[in-house]
Amino acid sequence: MTASTEASEKIIIDQKEKERFMREAIRQARKAEALDEVPIGCVIVCDGKIIARGYNRRNTDKNTLSHAELNAIRKAAKKLGDWRLEGCTMYVTLEPCQMCAGALVQSRIDEVVIGCMNPKAGCAGSIINLLQMAAFNHQVKITEGILHDECSSMLTEFFRRLRRSQKHTADPGQTSVPEQADARNQSPAQDQSPAQDQSGAPLS
Ligand SMILES: [Zn+2]
Repeated sequence: MTASTEASEKIIIDQKEKERFMREAIRQARKAEALDEVPIGCVIVCDGKIIARGYNRRNTDKNTLSHAELNAIRKAAKKLGDWRLEGCTMYVTLEPCQMCAGALVQSRIDEVVIGCMNPKAGCAGSIINLLQMAAFNHQVKITEGILHDECSSMLTEFFRRLRRSQKHTADPGQTSVPEQADARNQSPAQDQSPAQDQSGAPLS
């Protein structure tokens, strides 16, 4: 086997492995969805094994801190017996917010693999790239777009269903989630966009 064939086979294997872990992150997101939470999920991988899982439970827990990433970071630290997640990789269905990106830097995690980006609230490159600020003492490798379409359509469909159910149940005059809102510009679950705050929907 030539070196270049070996290299391209390795890339294919890496890609397949990334997709396998992202699929598990999607499974976590579906748990959030089952609770009427915005579907966002993640897993943390160490030495090729999943050591922690998390999904968005913000409304369920009535807690700002209950984002998928923080829930998983807490579990991973407990499992490793260390707050440092060196040597670990997080697979997350949506680009992390400022709080989670900050926690990821603090955890000294090696890498974050992202399903789809979040232009309205993401802090791994969309609004700001907190994961790779040269001034901080730790930078996190970023890989984007693993199972992008599945991660993105899961959110788009969630918000479509939400708008539909609001149309059916809303009192006249009640503010509903705007038509133009979609997964990418709606800032799913993990921000404070006016659309969510006014809607009274299970997003905020
Ligand atoms: Zn977050």
